[in-house]
Amino acid sequence: MKTLKLAYKRIILDYHYSEFLPETLSAVDPAEYVKQMAEAGIEAYLVYAKDHWGNVYHKTKISHKHPNAPEDLFGMQLELCRANGIIPYAYTTVCWDEHSARAHPEWRACGPDWLLMEKAPPQGSGWHYLCANSPYGDFFLQQLEELVAGYDFPALFLDIYHYDAGTCVCYCEHCRRKWRQMYGDDMPERMGVPEKVRYARFRDGFYREFYGQVNSLLSAHGKSDCLVTHNHGGTDPTLPSFIGKETEPFGLDYVIPQMVIKETRNRAAGRETEIYFGRFNQFWDFTVKSKQLLQWETVNVFAHDCAATIIDQPLLDGRLDKHAYAAIGAAYAEAGKLVKWTQGSLPYSEIGVYFDHLSYEVSASEGHDDFVGACKVLTECHLPFDLVTDFDHASKLDEFDAIVLPHTPLVGSKTREAIRQYVENGGVVICDYMAGIWNEAGGPSKGRHFLVDVFNHIPRKDNFIKPLLPVDATHLRTGLMLALTAKADDEVLGLCVPGALNRNQQAWVSHNTPPATEADGPAVVIRKLGKGRVLYFNTNIFSEYLNTNLKSLRDFIRLCIEKVYKARLWAKAPSIVDAIYQKKDGDVIVTLNCCTLDRGSNASSMLYGTVPPLHMNINETYPIAGIRLYSRQEIRQAEMLIEKGSPCRIGREDDLWYVELPAIEGYDAVKIKV
Ligand SMILES: [Zn+2]
Repeated sequence: MKTLKLAYKRIILDYHYSEFLPETLSAVDPAEYVKQMAEAGIEAYLVYAKDHWGNVYHKTKISHKHPNAPEDLFGMQLELCRANGIIPYAYTTVCWDEHSARAHPEWRACGPDWLLMEKAPPQGSGWHYLCANSPYGDFFLQQLEELVAGYDFPALFLDIYHYDAGTCVCYCEHCRRKWRQMYGDDMPERMGVPEKVRYARFRDGFYREFYGQVNSLLSAHGKSDCLVTHNHGGTDPTLPSFIGKETEPFGLDYVIPQMVIKETRNRAAGRETEIYFGRFNQFWDFTVKSKQLLQWETVNVFAHDCAATIIDQPLLDGRLDKHAYAAIGAAYAEAGKLVKWTQGSLPYSEIGVYFDHLSYEVSASEGHDDFVGACKVLTECHLPFDLVTDFDHASKLDEFDAIVLPHTPLVGSKTREAIRQYVENGGVVICDYMAGIWNEAGGPSKGRHFLVDVFNHIPRKDNFIKPLLPVDATHLRTGLMLALTAKADDEVLGLCVPGALNRNQQAWVSHNTPPATEADGPAVVIRKLGKGRVLYFNTNIFSEYLNTNLKSLRDFIRLCIEKVYKARLWAKAPSIVDAIYQKKDGDVIVTLNCCTLDRGSNASSMLYGTVPPLHMNINETYPIAGIRLYSRQEIRQAEMLIEKGSPCRIGREDDLWYVELPAIEGYDAVKIKV
C-alpha cells in the first residue's frame, strides 16, 4: 500500500452539522463513502474527528457528539478505508468549536473592547472564535489526547488556528497576560505597523508553544512528523511537518491558484505540500463545478508536484452527491496521468518573485495587487518563475537570473542587504513603486525604495507613462507616481507625462484629462548598481496590469524586462495557457494547462452602470495549436507525456531551438532534454 506521501489524489468530507433538523445525518453510510471514493480513484481521505460545531465523531468520554451520528463513525471509516486501499488521516478544528463556545463564553476570543469575535462567511451567520490561550487550549489538548491514544493515522490536520496581526487579534485576559509576560507592557489597543510587527512575533511565540504541545502529545503516542497546518502558519516557517493551503479561482481569477501553490510550496521548503479546493462552484454552495474546471485545478496542483485534496461535504442526510464523484473521478483520472512524471521533480525557474509574509500581514495586504500582477505578467508571458520570500531571502537569490521585487512596504534589513548584494554582484532586480518604507520593526525607513533614491510623490491626480519601446499605445494611464530624477547613465524606457491640468470643477469637467504634450521626467529606468542593474517603474505598474488586463501594458512590461533579462527557456502560447516548469533527472518537464474560459457573465450592468465582478468558469476546452517551447540551448530530445505518440517537432529559428507541440486539448506535458 502507498504511504500518504505518495498519495496525490485526496479528498476531505467536510462534516459540519448542527443538530436542529431531525433528518440530519439520518442516512450516513461509511461503506458507501469508501466505495464511491475508491471508484473515483481517491488514494487518501481526510476524515473528520471533530467539526466546527464541536461534534466529535469518535468514541469519547469528554466531548460532545452529534446525536444522529453513529457511535464511532471516525473509527469505522478508518477501518473501511484501510480494507479498501485508501489511506485515512485525521481532521480536527481548534478555534471554531461552537458547542464549547456556547457552553463556555469565558473561553471565547474578544476584541480590545471585550466584544466577542465571530467569523461570518459570505452567507452571513458565523462561528464564534475560541481562544486557545484560554483554558479551552487545555481542553482541546485533552480532546486530542483521546483521539491520538485511541486511533492510528499517519497525519493530523489541525484546522482553524488563525491568529493574524491584521485580521484576528485576541484581547482576552489570557492573551493580555501572555503579552505582558513577553514584553512587560500592556497590549496596545490601537495597532499601527510597529505594534502589528510586535503582535506577529508574539503570535509566532505562542504558535511554537502550542504546536510544541501538540507534537509532544503525538510523539508520546508513537506518532511523529505527522502534523499538518493550514493557512495562517504565522511568520515562523519551521513549525509544522507539512503544509497545506486552500486555493480557488471562484470564477474570478485564474492566476491566484498558481501563485498560492508556489507560495505554499515555498513555505514547505521541501516538506510535503497539500493544496485544497472545493468541488463546489462557489463557497460550499452544494453545486458541483464543471469537470473541465476541476481538471484544470487538479493539473495545476500535480504539475507543481503537490498533493490535491478536493473538498466535499455530504448532503444533509449524510449521503454523497453522485455528480460530485463523477466530476472528481474524471478530474483525478485525467490529471492523474501527470503524477508519474512530476513526482519528485523540483521547480525549474529563472526568475524569483519576492513575497514578504510579514509585510503582507502588517500592511493590510498593501502591495499584494502588485505581487499578483507581477505573477500574472510572468504567467501570461510563460516565463519560468518561482517565489523567493522573507523565509529564504539570502540563501536562494543566487539561484535566479533575475528577481522581481513588486511594491512591498516592509522589507527587513537582512533581506535588503541580501538583495542589494545580489545586484552589486551582477544580478538584476525588477521593481515597481516602493520597497522597504518600513524596517523589520515596522518603523519608518529613509526614502521609499531601498535600491532607488525616490522620496516624494508627484503631487497631481493624473499620470501617464509614455512608452519609449514599441507597443500599441501612445500613453499608458497609471496611478500615483514617485518623483524620479534621471542619472547620467540611466537607460530611460518610459517617460512620465502629467495630465494636461489638474482636474477641478472650473478647468476640466468632461471625462478624463488628456495627457499633457510635454513629459516631465523619467518613469521607467534601468539603473546601474555595482555590477548589476535595477529596472525601476515609478508607479504600481504590476497592480495596474492586474486591474486592467490591458495587452499594451503587458507588452510594455515584457519589453522592459527583456532589456535586462533574456529567458533561457520559455513557451510561446496564448496567454490563457499556463506553462509550469519542473526539472527531474536532468530533463525539464513543462506542463501546459489550457485555461480556456467561458464568456464572462455580467448580466446586471448597462452602459456606465456599476460593473459587478465577472464570473467565468472553465466549461469547455478546445484544441490549442501552434504552441512552441523555445530554448537558447540545443534541444536534443522532446517527448509528449500524456498523449503519448503525438509528434513534436524540433526546429531552429535564428540562434534558438524550439519544439513545436501538437494541438493540446485540456492539458499535456512535454519532457525535453537540453
Ligand atoms: Zn485570547
